[in-house]
Parts: sequence; structure tokens; C-alpha cells
Amino acid sequence: MDAMQTMERLVEQLNQYNYHYYTLDQPLVSDKEYDALYDQLTALEAETGIVLPDSPTGRVGGELLKGFEPHRHLAPLWSLDKAQTEEHLINWNNRVIRLIDDYNSKNPDNPLPSPTYVVELKFDGLTLNLTYTDGKLVQASTRGNGVVGEGILAQVKTIKSVPLTIPYREGTIEVQGEGIMNLSVLAKYNETAAEPLKNARNAAAGALRNLNPRTTAERKLNAYFYNVGYSDNIQFTDHRQMMDFLKDNRFKVNTYIEYFDDFTQVMKALGQIQERRDSLDYLIDGAVIKVTDMRTREVLGYTDKFPRWAIAYKFEAEETTTILESVSWNV
Ligand code: NAD
Repeated sequence: MDAMQTMERLVEQLNQYNYHYYTLDQPLVSDKEYDALYDQLTALEAETGIVLPDSPTGRVGGELLKGFEPHRHLAPLWSLDKAQTEEHLINWNNRVIRLIDDYNSKNPDNPLPSPTYVVELKFDGLTLNLTYTDGKLVQASTRGNGVVGEGILAQVKTIKSVPLTIPYREGTIEVQGEGIMNLSVLAKYNETAAEPLKNARNAAAGALRNLNPRTTAERKLNAYFYNVGYSDNIQFTDHRQMMDFLKDNRFKVNTYIEYFDDFTQVMKALGQIQERRDSLDYLIDGAVIKVTDMRTREVLGYTDKFPRWAIAYKFEAEETTTILESVSWNV
């Protein structure tokens, strides 16, 4: 088979998997298998310089389900670049440093600081984008294709920790987080469920994209927030300040969040998270590393799909519903 035929086959296969994963919330294959095929396609596209028009590498999210009102995000919701090896992470960091150095050599009067990093857990659920106007929750949506998502306000309102009003009342903001189902909640749900749910990620995504909010409510979902994606009036100087804003406005923020000046410490932290992964009461599929300074983020900018200032370190795929003792990171 030549490269073109292989690419056509991969595109077709991956689009089929995407449909089952994002639209039906019923994956046909494991994430590991999916990621291997995706990487194979990306490599072939780089090698041949050809990207087929319906290639999944050009898009961020999934198809919109009929029955939900579309919501146009006020700022795009990006995907994340992914690394599975230390080498890949080091390359990412080297590029960050190089871009900062380039900028500083052209702007010696107003240089960017040396990069510092924040490490967060990469929750495995469904992306949520919440819109607040003058302090009131007015919309909630899925990521969809990154530009337009599905309005799921009634469903999101069933998540008890999501604030319906917030103290910040100056115009409109959009905040992003992840809707999840805690593993202990899933286990309890399955004790009496007519149809037990196999996997917490799909249980959460399926519940949030269910046209009947009562079904959503029965799943007793939870959510962690990690980003202010849009705001009329407010600007943050760094990630810490943004997280303080989220906390001050009563959003649930995960207790694991660590800041580092030194990239070797970041790598160490990733190993520690991986070791503690199985003791968490929710699924994570990795950790996310972000540059903390907001001006640096602006300078580094975005590729078609990803911010250059962040990268996801993906762990080996694992689907588990086992719960061990909870640890102090759980809120
Ligand atoms: P992504 O891996 O590109 O990551 C972006 C998402 O990470 C965000 O939208 C957000 O929801 C989430 N996230 C969680 N914690 C975060 C944090 N602290 N900061 C920022 N973002 C955070 O997301 P994606 O494009 O939805 O997923 C792609 C992956 O999904 C693939 O690599 C694959 O593993 C899996 N997938 C599997 C199949 C399958 O059939 N098994 C199909 C499609 C995709």
C-alpha cells in the first residue's frame, strides 16, 4: 500500500473512532490504540506534505449532536499538544526558551521573564465552557469543534458544585473546566443501576450530552475548573492570579496544582503524579504543563490547534473503575 492509500484508510478509520468517542460517547478502541494510529497519520502527513481534506488532524473536537442549541465560544477552545516521552517534553521546553530568546533579542527594552511552569492534572471527562454575564450563569457548552459547541446549560446546572451566580459582575466571562464522574460515585451508581456504566469518562460525557437533564442529575457529576478563556474586562498577569480569581468566584479548583521555576522539577512532578494516579477518585489521562506568565503566553501564541505555551504529558491509557483510598488531592 502506498502512503496515500494508507492515509486514506487511517483518515476513515480515525473519523469512525472519533464519531464513536465524541458523538456517541462509546469508544470502539482504547486511547492507546487511537493515539498510535493518529501519530501514524501525522507522521505520514509530515512526510508527504499532504493533508487530506477530512483528516482529523485538522480539527479540535467532535460533531455537534442535533437537539442541542449551538453555542459560539467567545474565544476558541484549544486542543493540547501531547508528549509521551521525556525527550518530547524537553523539545517542547527548548522551543519555549528559543521563542522567548528570539523575542527578547528583538525587544531588549521590554524582555519576557525566564519561563516558569505550572503543572496540573489532566482530567479525563468532558470539556465544559461556562458563560457568565453580570455574575449569572447564562450558558454552558461542550467544546464541540473548538469554535462552536453544544449548549448544555440545563445539564450542567445539575452539577451541584457549579456556581449559578458569582461575585464577579463586570460583563461577560467564559471559564473552562472538565465535567467528571468520581469513581466512588460511579461504583455506587453501578450497585443499583439496571445498566451498569463501564467507564467514568463516558459516563460523564454521556450524561452531559443527554437530552434529559434528569438522567444527568442521576449521575451526580462533579467538575474542576482550570481556565478563564474569555473576559470583557479582566486581565491576569499569571496563572496563579487566574486560579485565585476562579477560587474567589467559587469555582471548584483541584487541590493539586504546582508551580516550578525549573524544568527538571517539572519532570520529577510528572513521575510523582503518575505514581499517585491510581489513588485518585477520578480519572486522569496525564498532566498538563503550562507556562505561567500571561504575556509570555501571548507572545508564544498558537498553532492551528494548540497553544505553544502548554503541553499535555499523556500517561499510558488505563481505564479503571477501582478506587483505592482517597488522597489529599481530592476535594
Ligand atoms: P486533548 O487531549 O487535546 O486535551 C485537551 C482537553 O484536555 C481540553 O479540552 C480539556 O477538556 C482537557 N483538560 C483536562 N485537564 C486540563 C487542564 N488541567 N488544563 C487544560 N486542559 C485540560 O483532548 P481531546 O482532543 O479531547 O482528546 C484527544 C485524546 O482523546 C486522544 O489523544 C485520545 O487519547 C482520545 N481519543 C480517543 C478515541 C478512542 O476512540 N479511544 C477517539 C478520539 C480521541
